[in-house]
Amino acid sequence: TANIERESRGVPVILKSCGKTFPDGTVGLKPFDLTITAGQTVVLLGPSGCGKTTTLRIIAGLESPDKGGRVMFGDDDVTDVPIEKRNVGMVFQSYALFPNMTVSRNIEYGLRVRGDDSAKRSARVKEMLAMMQIEHLADRRVDQLSGGQRQRVALSRAIAVRPRVLLLDEPLTALDAKLRDSLRTEIDQLLKRLGITAVYVTHDQGEAMALGDVIVVMDHGEVVQSGSPRDIYFTPSNRFVADFIGTVNTLTCPVQAGQIQFPGGQSLSIADLEDVCDNGQSLVELFFRPEAVSIVNPGEGLLTGEVAAASFLGEKTRLRVRLEDGAVCTVDAPGDKAFALGDSVSFNVSSRSLRSLGGGGVC
Ligand code: ATP
Repeated sequence: TANIERESRGVPVILKSCGKTFPDGTVGLKPFDLTITAGQTVVLLGPSGCGKTTTLRIIAGLESPDKGGRVMFGDDDVTDVPIEKRNVGMVFQSYALFPNMTVSRNIEYGLRVRGDDSAKRSARVKEMLAMMQIEHLADRRVDQLSGGQRQRVALSRAIAVRPRVLLLDEPLTALDAKLRDSLRTEIDQLLKRLGITAVYVTHDQGEAMALGDVIVVMDHGEVVQSGSPRDIYFTPSNRFVADFIGTVNTLTCPVQAGQIQFPGGQSLSIADLEDVCDNGQSLVELFFRPEAVSIVNPGEGLLTGEVAAASFLGEKTRLRVRLEDGAVCTVDAPGDKAFALGDSVSFNVSSRSLRSLGGGGVC
């Protein structure tokens, strides 16, 4: 095994009542608690300005939380420990590398600062170059590298010191889609293999789902929901989370005598839906994902409408369907089936996939 794999594993990270009000009065973050298990990757996900970077900066020690907030690395209270003594690794969207130094010198940087001797430094640099498959670039200057190569160097530099926590702020945003996907997979494998505790900031839900052991969805300085990617996807706690993670359709339907009335006249017994409680309510708000539908013969499905838009995406065709009450749904049809605008289209949604927001669940 390589040396770096034998060094100590990541630590748990615990935020207790961490909030942040900036000197100008802006509330960047409302006080919240977060516990990150050692070796896990937590993704902070949310729109611009929701407080992701502020959270990361508090963990790093670049920002202190408001009075009363605590940051713990395992049993170690680091709230008042400066950044250079916290032993965190950081990777940003813009590389923050030294452009006119070689790749090797960049990777070596943290090891030098920490005072490792030259033999130890060169062994670790070699190990990192091999791990990130950039041996051939060792003597190249950073300003002669592509964006993807630079991010490999930035990752190598951050990991070389074997940080207690690795912090990544939108590290793939500047890269093109294909490169982003492949580097994302590599980062995932690397974090798992090394057992690094990582906090990863992104506004990209695909990245969050692929990388996170836990996703923390944030909005306006607050944690809206946290859970596994599957929890967040299948049981979003509200409309904001449902919309943010993928595409979602919502239907508000009347209920009469325990029967949910769908636009177009079909009905389903509310008792048949796993995730929706029968409280004698007169309206239910249901949601379903585009991929949860099955297309059936025109007129034979739970919902029927006409094709308002069709995008062929290869394995599937994504349709916008205008239902009989005027509402528009997004549904996926098999890619080999062609649709023209105005075609009548009918589909079923399984009772398992028709859910209520906020996780009715326990009835
Ligand atoms: P983005 O994805 O755009 O980076 P973010 O989710 O990381 O957004 P933060 O950078 O954490 O958001 O900012 C949260 C809020 O705090 C925003 O409203 C921002 O304008 C504000 N903020 C951040 N830094 C400061 C500062 N130094 N002074 C005042 N307000 C700030």
